[in-house]
Amino acid sequence: MGFPDSAVLPGLGQRLAEVRDGIVDACRSASRDPEDVTLIVVTKFHPASLVAALADLGVRDVGENRHQEAQAKAEELAGLHLAWHFIGQLQTKKARQAARYAHAIHSIDRERLVDALSGVEREIDAFVQINLTDDPHRGGVAPDDALPLAERVLEAPSLRLRGVMAVAPLEEDPARAFERLAGYSERLRSLDPAASAISAGMTHDYAEAIAHGATHLRIGSAITGKRPEPR
Ligand SMILES: *Cc1c(COP(=O)(O)O)cnc(C)c1O
Repeated sequence: MGFPDSAVLPGLGQRLAEVRDGIVDACRSASRDPEDVTLIVVTKFHPASLVAALADLGVRDVGENRHQEAQAKAEELAGLHLAWHFIGQLQTKKARQAARYAHAIHSIDRERLVDALSGVEREIDAFVQINLTDDPHRGGVAPDDALPLAERVLEAPSLRLRGVMAVAPLEEDPARAFERLAGYSERLRSLDPAASAISAGMTHDYAEAIAHGATHLRIGSAITGKRPEPR
């Protein structure tokens, strides 16, 4: 399976513990229960052996953003029974394949993707990804289109609508962006009260995300160290 770079493994447990402490601290500041926050460790570009090392440290939820890479790791590590979260752009023609290993898809951004997933045999957690920028080329659906898309998810027997997902824009204070996201989450809950999850918060902004109600953090480099170059 290939061992991760020797610079990566030492310190992995330490960095994971530091992030877990940081989550507890941010929850305390926000008067929230850390039990209500799920840490997804983003392992993209890292080898399966790093994911296995994380599993040894008690990690159950891992995030990947490319189908082929995710599929290969999920197959190799099937015995570990991890929950694989798909967090990247998903091509419609790869959707059914991703549905075989994905516990959750955080990047639901168009009806065609929902339709491609709606007939699969497994139940998958679905997050509607919202674009918090004005740039239509960035990932996610425009905020005004989020509710119709969510309705489509609700009609898909294989999808369980969990909530919203977003990436904070680089050019904006993340706290402001996450505040808007919290508003979109509230709108979604008016459609389905159970869809209360908020997938937000990365290495540099997870404390702000927690302050604005994030329930699913997607944290990579703070835990895994620097990412190898994509292959
Ligand atoms: C890579 C990635 C992350 C994790 O980013 P870090 O800054 O390394 O924590 C989170 N969400 C998405 C959608 C990503 O692509």
